Amino acid sequence: MKSLFAVSECAPFVKTGGLADVAGALPKALEAEGVETRILLPAYPALETLVEAGEFVGEVYGVDGAKRVHAVRADGLNLLLLEAPHLFKRPGGPYINEAGVDWVDNHLRFAAFSRAAANIARDGIGGWRPDVLHCHDWQSGLAPAYLRLDGRGGPPSILTIHNMAFQGVFPSDRIDAMALPRSGFHPDGYEYWGQVSFLKAGLVYADRITTVSPTYARELTSAEFGMGLQGVIAARRADLVGVLNGVDCDVWNPARDAHLPAAFSADDLAGKAAARAELAAAFDIDLEAHAPLFGLVSRLTRQKGIDLLLSVLPRVLSRGATLAVLGAGDHDLEAAFRSAAASYPRRVGVRIGYDERLAHLLQAGSDSILVPSRFEPCGLTQLYALRYGSPPVVARTGGLADTVIDANDAALMAGCGTGFAFSPIGAAQLGDALDRACDAFAEPEVWTGIVRRAMNHPVGWEVSAKRYAALYAELAGGGDAETA
Ligand code: ADP
Repeated sequence: MKSLFAVSECAPFVKTGGLADVAGALPKALEAEGVETRILLPAYPALETLVEAGEFVGEVYGVDGAKRVHAVRADGLNLLLLEAPHLFKRPGGPYINEAGVDWVDNHLRFAAFSRAAANIARDGIGGWRPDVLHCHDWQSGLAPAYLRLDGRGGPPSILTIHNMAFQGVFPSDRIDAMALPRSGFHPDGYEYWGQVSFLKAGLVYADRITTVSPTYARELTSAEFGMGLQGVIAARRADLVGVLNGVDCDVWNPARDAHLPAAFSADDLAGKAAARAELAAAFDIDLEAHAPLFGLVSRLTRQKGIDLLLSVLPRVLSRGATLAVLGAGDHDLEAAFRSAAASYPRRVGVRIGYDERLAHLLQAGSDSILVPSRFEPCGLTQLYALRYGSPPVVARTGGLADTVIDANDAALMAGCGTGFAFSPIGAAQLGDALDRACDAFAEPEVWTGIVRRAMNHPVGWEVSAKRYAALYAELAGGGDAETA
């Protein structure tokens, strides 16, 4: 079985969030299921050395002309790098310029990317042709539309929704520039209130839709979570399946993590104490022995419930707890955290920015990781927190609800809590959950039990990779796949 991933970021090469982690981990797990995956990625500047190290395998048409494709194997992944310097070789991020503003030609950049993905899926490249095309999020959402609308056939396609909040909506006067067949510009096609929606195109034209947790799959049919596309989701409910994300257990392994001062495991937690001390030193925090050090590693946006955390800060700090924050995002939230650090010196430590090493240290050194998201398709930070023995405090939504077992009294009696979950999602409820975490932390035996259970909770890709492989097999003409 051969799968072509069309994805706009992939760890460890280029990453803005969880999408990259999935693109960098799932193909390795699929390999164990007999699926050969090749990952089509735009050749951003960060990938230039890989382009040079790679082998030219052919040219592919991508909306505004032919583009060179280079194949390279790196970090256990088979990459196909789409070279289009005028579209992708720029400073800044994959989607935004150095001032933090969306590139004005994002429609063209990702239409070209989607078109190239569709053409490679149909015609193959360098003698390799996939059995399925697996698209991810809006950036490759047009690929199923190109495949379907130009009527020249092609393999079945899947679209995975990693976050419904990002839809790639552009004015309709760009349809011709994107070489999009006009036959799809209607409410049952890629048209969205008079505009062009990349994500809707994928939802309408892909043969199957997956999203990254069973709970998010159910939530997406509601207006609150469907974000305008709930009707499209409802119409395709029979073709939608929620498959929980996993984590790369080699990259995120406290027993072998080069970013940490010492190794640790569920059986030997001494190294975790060393990480806690190093984290506190790095963030200028004075620790209290009887109270937890909470950690946050996140994009700083409204989705992530950051404002809820800010509003309960005085309450949680009054318990003796401390807080380390690593994040970047909305300028007002960045400023709010900077000012919290100034208001609570040596109790709140804040780093604004993106830092992979610090993210690992924060996961390991925190006693508990906070994920108070308003919505969370899957969430990876709570999975890393489980693996690093930092029982997470999470909002009961999306993948957070599917992965964390609330350590309430019944769960503790049954010996099965791995963290703390709250609902409905509000500041008071978050405050209550943080209180419960503080209470549990003050009882070392209870806390250590939660930590060990969290660390032993399976968070790898094994189960979900099997489900994707079964889905591929079903689509490509054999076997059965389960649906959520
Ligand atoms: P999302 O994709 O919505 O941002 P996820 O929880 O799925 O949320 O994935 C977030 C990923 O990005 C995790 O790997 C997390 O460690 C990483 N991350 C988020 N913010 C930062 C940061 N400031 N520095 C380093 N890593 C970060």
